[in-house]
Amino acid sequence: MSIALVRTVDEVRERLSLVRREKRRIGLVPTMGALHAGHASLIEKAQSEGVFTAVSIFVNPLQFGPDEDYQRYPRLLEKDLEICERVGADLVFAPEAGEVYVSEQRTFVEVTRLGDHLCGVFRPGHFRGVATVVAKLFNIIQPDSAYFGEKDYQQLCIIRRMVQDLNFPIEIVPVPIYRDADGLALSSRNVYLDQDQRAAAPALYRALMTARRMIEDGERNADVVKQASGWILAAEQRLRQEYFEIVDPVELQPVSEVTEEVRIAGAVWVGKTRLIDNVAAVPR
Ligand code: AMP
Repeated sequence: MSIALVRTVDEVRERLSLVRREKRRIGLVPTMGALHAGHASLIEKAQSEGVFTAVSIFVNPLQFGPDEDYQRYPRLLEKDLEICERVGADLVFAPEAGEVYVSEQRTFVEVTRLGDHLCGVFRPGHFRGVATVVAKLFNIIQPDSAYFGEKDYQQLCIIRRMVQDLNFPIEIVPVPIYRDADGLALSSRNVYLDQDQRAAAPALYRALMTARRMIEDGERNADVVKQASGWILAAEQRLRQEYFEIVDPVELQPVSEVTEEVRIAGAVWVGKTRLIDNVAAVPR
């Protein structure tokens, strides 16, 4: 395998300083591994922009709650390396937790307001963990651009805002959600689903698309839209709705009357697996 696998901060800095000396721009694709076609589309986007593409693979303990799946999160480095090589990444940075958190972290990045709704309500501390590790990765890699999937829309907004507020000289590039044929957004957690659960999971996407269609067809009352989508989720007995919200696309605050573009976002539990998804909607 010819792709460079780098395990330490010192080595990745050394290698990237050579890349910078050649006047190449550096793009970062931060991931937690267990890569799939959604991640590949981020790498391909970076490649299409001609940047030296560094993929980080790091299951970040700081963003998992005590009852969440940090221990059992899929770790598949060999397969991930093959995917990175196949789609043309230039380097994989896959540090151990002790390399990133050398001593107990005392300094954190907290983005206020944008985490007050959606996943932020149900995963306290999650976005603080995400923003902190992404800030660390930005300082380690010092990329010119970084690629984030719209799949994690709240994360994308929070990172965009962090870059603006803390003056990181990094362009944040959003990448559309990559879906299976039945609409289910690809996720590393989809491997947890058994056959029945997998069959039930696309109901979330159907609920989101129903909401989008209602808004496009002129429905302005967010409660009416959410109620109709709620019925679709409730009809699928293997799903349990965690939240289903209609928010403004920048500050992520719930809207009651849809007069401008919104994001519709939902989270559901299928057995012990939590799935999230979202779509944009523009009223007529
Ligand atoms: P993760 O490994 O789940 O932390 O995701 C790493 C990056 O890949 C994040 O920016 C995600 O938003 C993005 N991503 C994950 N799944 C998808 C998908 N189905 N489509 C597009 N981007 C995705």
